[in-house]
Amino acid sequence: MTETLKGSCLCDRVEYAVQDPQALAYCHCSRCQRWTGSSLAGVVVAKENFRFTKGEDLVKTYESELAPRNFCSNCGSSLYDDLGEVYFVAAGLMPDLDLEPSFHQQVAYKASWHQIGDDAPQFAEMPPG
Ligand SMILES: [Zn+2]
Ligand SMILES: [Zn+2]
Repeated sequence: MTETLKGSCLCDRVEYAVQDPQALAYCHCSRCQRWTGSSLAGVVVAKENFRFTKGEDLVKTYESELAPRNFCSNCGSSLYDDLGEVYFVAAGLMPDLDLEPSFHQQVAYKASWHQIGDDAPQFAEMPPG
């Protein structure tokens, strides 16, 4: 069991804890650009390794065509996408996160102004598997 990482939204009314983060993945698709204002940096976490520690009642869900996307209804921070077995948790909300980028997906749709500055693998669409 690795250490517990804590995350919180911009207004600090929603807090959560994460264990055993599996990967740090970037999605550059046009939907994630609109969801985040840039690319989505998401930490892949098994559903059972994510739990709220505060403010779960403030969490609202937007049923996007890809996955339910959860956000703080007070400040609007993107919290996580529910991909079933795993959650895709917004990396920027976890100040103590210490993970190297794992991969970039949907790079074919990347904003022209976004420069990828690491050597992680890039996939034009979704990564295999
Ligand atoms: Zn908030
Ligand atoms: Zn995306």
